[in-house]
Amino acid sequence: MNTLDNPGSFTPYHLKSIRMITSSVLSKFKSGEFIKAFNFLVTESLNSWNKKKILNKKGKYYCPLCENHSGSFIHMSNSFRYSFNSVCPYCSSRARHRGLLFLYKKEISGLDTESRVLHFAPEPVFYSIFKNKSFRYQTTDYILEDVDLPKQDVQNLSIADDMYDRILSNHVIEHVQDDIKALSEMYRITKKGGKVIITVPGNFKRARTVYFENLKNNGHYRDYGIDFIKKLEKVFNKVEIIDLNSFDTTGELAIPKRELVFIGIKL
Ligand SMILES: [Zn+2]
Repeated sequence: MNTLDNPGSFTPYHLKSIRMITSSVLSKFKSGEFIKAFNFLVTESLNSWNKKKILNKKGKYYCPLCENHSGSFIHMSNSFRYSFNSVCPYCSSRARHRGLLFLYKKEISGLDTESRVLHFAPEPVFYSIFKNKSFRYQTTDYILEDVDLPKQDVQNLSIADDMYDRILSNHVIEHVQDDIKALSEMYRITKKGGKVIITVPGNFKRARTVYFENLKNNGHYRDYGIDFIKKLEKVFNKVEIIDLNSFDTTGELAIPKRELVFIGIKL
């Protein structure tokens, strides 16, 4: 696998044919994933219905990552939730990526030649903002092969202490068994005064994290609740929360409310 298989890879997101939708729904039903099958049927039917609108380049929504307009982004779902109006058909960015672009630009603006940024499971849609900058930008992952530091298990990194000024991690730690260990490792390799900028899948109106007994939910060990903050506070000296919706002042980015980013700071 490589970074082109990641969400936000610049690979266009192909709308599914009726035949593909039917066969996918049936296979989910056969494996007992009834809610997932039903949600998938709803979102993919709406996407088929909306095809013209989605591909309308004069539409009211805008993706700042690939600079295309659309009449609607693509709807997605899983066993837990619907993400309506989320995926850009041209670069496959999700709502979180469209907001993170602005946050990342802000967070790297003060970095200098001595600074280092490490990006876990990197999304190619962000590469352009790190190009030709004075600081050192590196990518890493456990599975993806086309990264600077491959085969790195975030629960046990072979990276020295106090190395990075910024660590970027989107939808990574839900895939590992011990997320506290992963956060502790990120803390360890962060310089004093550095920040770890994290997004995780979840429902932040819900108080508690839901833990899964198997990895059928996209290989996730858990779906986070707002109690994720307690885990961060155990590891980091200071924690900040930013709602990416705050970057969408006109609504054209289609970033929902409570699309949260968690920033762990090492003092
Ligand atoms: Zn896009």
